[in-house]
Amino acid sequence: MPLTPEQIAEIEAQRANPRPTLRAVSEGMEAHLYKAHEVLDHGFIRVIDYMGDDAAICQAARVSYGKGTKSVQNDEGLIRYLMRHWHSTPFEMCEIKLHVKLPVFVARQWIRHRTANVNEYSARYSILDREFYIPAPDQLAAQSVVNNQGRGVALEGEEAVRVLEILKSDSNRAYDNYEAMISDEGQAGLARELARMNLPMNIYTQWYWKVDLHNLFHFLRLRADSHAQYEIRVYADAICKVVADWVPAAYGAFEDYRMGGANLSGKAMDCIRRMLKGEEVTQENSGMSAGEWREFQAELEG
Ligand SMILES: Cc1cc2nc3c(=O)[nH]c(=O)nc-3n(C[C@H](O)[C@H](O)[C@H](O)COP(=O)(O)OP(=O)(O)OC[C@H]3O[C@@H](n4cnc5c(N)ncnc54)[C@H](O)[C@@H]3O)c2cc1C
Repeated sequence: MPLTPEQIAEIEAQRANPRPTLRAVSEGMEAHLYKAHEVLDHGFIRVIDYMGDDAAICQAARVSYGKGTKSVQNDEGLIRYLMRHWHSTPFEMCEIKLHVKLPVFVARQWIRHRTANVNEYSARYSILDREFYIPAPDQLAAQSVVNNQGRGVALEGEEAVRVLEILKSDSNRAYDNYEAMISDEGQAGLARELARMNLPMNIYTQWYWKVDLHNLFHFLRLRADSHAQYEIRVYADAICKVVADWVPAAYGAFEDYRMGGANLSGKAMDCIRRMLKGEEVTQENSGMSAGEWREFQAELEG
């Protein structure tokens, strides 16, 4: 179960107690506050708090540009201008605090994003729940033959059954031993901080994660991308939906310039100019390596 009964009661109590405020409020985000959005088999993301909205980004930008912003007709235009020109600090004026429940191996990838504040569940202090990520059958895939850092086609038949069985039985055996080691019935009971070291990486942990919008966009650009591992991508996708409701203009600009746009090298730009003039450009006369050319073609094909 993604949420414990205590967490559900806490969310209901928080949602039943709205307070008036003079702070900037995003209607779209208010609808998400505290609610858990389920991710994977036991995980979730939920918004605990946030600061700012699209208007807060513009307000901060106007402090720095002053009269210069008069040339921009509306907030959305200004936000698109900021995104286009990598004027990032106004986006840092917005913040989000999420409660995330995620498998430990996903947390290891996530924690690499250093520009956030994290407070994690203590498995020294508390006992971890018997909750393990077991991939859905369509995600139980073979090693990719084209990408060392990825997966290929889904496992089938007897192999898929056997792998699922190994994942489940290993997880449960490790947890049985964890419980047996920490038990104080008829024995001293091993410290939780030591007993946890035997648990597999698919066990779930939880944390509060606070980040500003600029660095969140950076995280989403990397982790909502097709190159990211599926298990972190589904969290990034869930966050994208929340951000789209929170700061629709900023998210629209992010989607257009960062997610939908491409980062092209000088050589790639030169090739495009030559193509537009009608020249036949190939990898051999492009000045690009085979890998660069392949990625360039993929960008052009969309
Ligand atoms: C598809 C994919 C595959 C990956 N594979 C691997 C892998 O095989 N091995 C591996 O180790 N990692 C891997 N990573 C992690 C990756 O290298 C980054 O650590 C991670 O994406 C966090 O990015 P970041 O440092 O830009 O983010 P953040 O830590 O949030 O930093 C944001 C930006 O702040 C600046 N910054 C932050 N801290 C510093 C600092 N101390 N000094 C200078 N500038 C700083 C940088 O400009 C940085 O881009 C992978 C990531 C992805 C998306």
